[in-house]
Amino acid sequence: LEQESLSWRTETSEVYRINAAAGDGEGCPVSDEMAGLLQECLELSGKSEGAFDITIGALTRVWNIDKWAREGETEGFRPPSPEERESALEKCGSGRVRLEWVTGDGSQARIYLPEGMQLDLGAVGKGLALSRILELLEEEPEVSGAVVYLGGSVLTYGSRPDGGSWKIGIADPSDPSSSVGILTLEGQWCVSTSGDYERYVTVDGVRYHHILDPATGYPARSGLCSVTIVCGSGLLADALSTACFVLGSEQGLDLAKSYGAEALLVEEDGTLRMTEGMREIFSAQE
Ligand code: AMP
Ligand code: MG
Repeated sequence: LEQESLSWRTETSEVYRINAAAGDGEGCPVSDEMAGLLQECLELSGKSEGAFDITIGALTRVWNIDKWAREGETEGFRPPSPEERESALEKCGSGRVRLEWVTGDGSQARIYLPEGMQLDLGAVGKGLALSRILELLEEEPEVSGAVVYLGGSVLTYGSRPDGGSWKIGIADPSDPSSSVGILTLEGQWCVSTSGDYERYVTVDGVRYHHILDPATGYPARSGLCSVTIVCGSGLLADALSTACFVLGSEQGLDLAKSYGAEALLVEEDGTLRMTEGMREIFSAQE
């Protein structure tokens, strides 16, 4: 999925091709599947008032936090200058994307990105992968139950051999090796967590993490350390966890509810906030 569709780094991927065509008046032809994915992401941008934005590629590149976090050291890292940040921000904004959906005559969908704009689907990759894995599982009648974990996103499927419920621990952002509590789930669900402890670098006591606020150009500081979403769709769980993280408690809870998803938020002081339905499936650590 990464190589063929989603990676902006890999020349063979569809996203790479779309980004390379930014500014081209002819736009870029996209597969139906990609068009559907982009449409859902653009919709969420609107509903989150721009907090979630897959056109944030130019900004994620000037921060490049993934690189430093992956290399596990901060030497050489510096936050982008105000000029770099401003110029990257000018290239972002879902409102300026045009997606021409498949028409009745069978012609292909096309996307038009303005000059300089770059897509970054990092916020939805794992969720989308879970949806693909679910399709594979459904083709295997001998698989009666499974749990699939893709760094931050979990799929539960079917039932456990002993008939018990699935138990998913939710990491404590202040100590990710322990948990703030346990989710108890029956059957098929997607669970996705976005947190400031997943990928970050610390410089002079300031933590720069990988979830950026398109309103400021800085790592989001909404008073939250993590957001966990539970819903039926992998894509939605992953996208909403990122969106709600940027929005903060009040707007984040409203957004999750508007999608019929359950949300668990860990605030900076450790306070837990959650939707009504979450209370029924989550039990906090004693
Ligand atoms: P996640 O860990 O699922 O919350 O996704 C974080 C990744 O999504 C980052 O590494 C970026 O690639 C991308 N990203 C960061 N900020 C945003 C944002 N505000 N909207 C959409 N994608 C973002
Ligand atoms: Mg996400």
